[in-house]
Amino acid sequence: MLIGVPKEIKNHEYRVGLTPESVAELVGRGHEVIVETSAGAGIGAEDEAYAQAGAEIVGDAATVFARAEMVVKVKEPQAGERAMLREGQILYTYLHLAPDPEQTRDLVESGAVCIAYETVTDASGGLPLLKPMSQVAGRMSIQAGATALEKAHGGRGVLLGGVPGVAPAKVVVIGGGVVGFNAAQMAVGMQADVTILDRSPAVLERLQTHFESRARVIYSTGAALEAEVRAADLVIGAVLIPGAAAPKLVSKALIGEMQPGAVVVDVAIDQGGCFETSRATTHADPTYMVGDVVHYCVANMPGAVARTSTYALNNVTLPHALAIADKGWKAALAANEHLANGLNVAFGKVTYGAVAKDLGYEH
Ligand code: NAD
Repeated sequence: MLIGVPKEIKNHEYRVGLTPESVAELVGRGHEVIVETSAGAGIGAEDEAYAQAGAEIVGDAATVFARAEMVVKVKEPQAGERAMLREGQILYTYLHLAPDPEQTRDLVESGAVCIAYETVTDASGGLPLLKPMSQVAGRMSIQAGATALEKAHGGRGVLLGGVPGVAPAKVVVIGGGVVGFNAAQMAVGMQADVTILDRSPAVLERLQTHFESRARVIYSTGAALEAEVRAADLVIGAVLIPGAAAPKLVSKALIGEMQPGAVVVDVAIDQGGCFETSRATTHADPTYMVGDVVHYCVANMPGAVARTSTYALNNVTLPHALAIADKGWKAALAANEHLANGLNVAFGKVTYGAVAKDLGYEH
C-alpha cells in the first residue's frame, strides 16, 4: 500500500503521524511511504531520517493526498486537507467528530474511509489510542504545577519535594484514572505529600495497592474533596465521566478559600474542566489568576512535548497501521473488532453510532 504523511497544519501542532522508525517498519513489510518535506521537523526528525528509513520525500501536502492510498496524521484534517480527500482513500488520525458537524459533513462528502484513533477500543473496554496522551498529560501536569508554584509565576514559592527539615508541598489529585495515576506517580517521585481522590472502588483499590503508604487514597465525597482542596498547594483536576462534560467539582467559592499562591491544573479542561473557574488556555499563555490562585488549563498539553507524544502515539497506532496496510482496510477491520470500532465515516455514511446520533445522520 502507498501510505502518505503530510505535515500537520493545525495551529501549534508539532507532532507527526509516523516517526522514521514507523516508516521503516512499513517499508520493511513491502509498503511505500511518502512524507511531506519537514513533516517531522517539530520532533527533530529531519527529511534525511525519513529518507534513510525508506520514505520518498515530496514537496507539498497536495502530492501526499493525491498519491496516498492511506493518509496517516495526528490531528483532524483541516478544511483545506478535507478538500483533498477522495472516495475510498483511507484517513487514519484523531477526528473527534461528535462536536464538529462541519468536519463530519466534509468527510461524508469526500467518500473517504475515516478511522478515528479515539474510538478504537481494547479487550478491557479502554481506549488504547487515547491512553498515551492521558499518560503524557498526567505526567506533565506535575511539571506544569511545580513551575506555577514558583514565586515568579504567581505561586506560593513552594518546592514540591521540600528539603530535609522543610515539609514538601501538598498535592491533591482529583480522579485516579490514567491522568491521575500518572500525575500521582510523578508527584510521589518528586517526594511531594500526595492525596488521590476517586469514586470508583476498583480504582481506589488499584491505587492503594500500587502506592501503598507513598500516597493517601481517599473516596471522593464532597466533604473530603473540600477539605483536601482547602489545604492543598497544588490540585490536579483529572476526572472523566465518559461521554459527558466534566463535573464542576470545585466551586468558585472553594477556590476563594484556597491558600494564596496555590495552583490548580485542570487537565479535564478538554471536557469543560472540573473547576468552576477554569477556562481553556494555550501553551503561549498557559496560566491566569482567579483571586490569588494560579490556574493552568491548557487543552492540548501533549503538544508541548511533541517528540515524546509522537513516539507514544506511534507505539499504539503503528500495529493497526501495519494491519490496514497489509490486509486492506476491509479485511483488517473484519479481523479486529476493536479496530472496527475506529471506523467513523466511510463512502459517504457516518458509521459510528454515537456520532451519527449526535449529528443527526442515518446509521
Ligand atoms: P479516566 O477515565 O482514566 O479517569 C477518570 C477518573 O475520574 C476515573 O477513575 C473516575 O472514577 C474518576 N472520577 C469520576 N468522577 C469523579 C469524582 N466525582 N471524584 C473523583 N474522581 C472521579 O480518564 P483520563 O484518561 O485520566 O482523562 C481524564 C481527563 O483528562 C479527561 O477529561 C481527558 O479528556 C483529559 N485529558 C486532557 C488532556 C489535555 O491535554 N488537557 C490530555 C489527555 C487527557
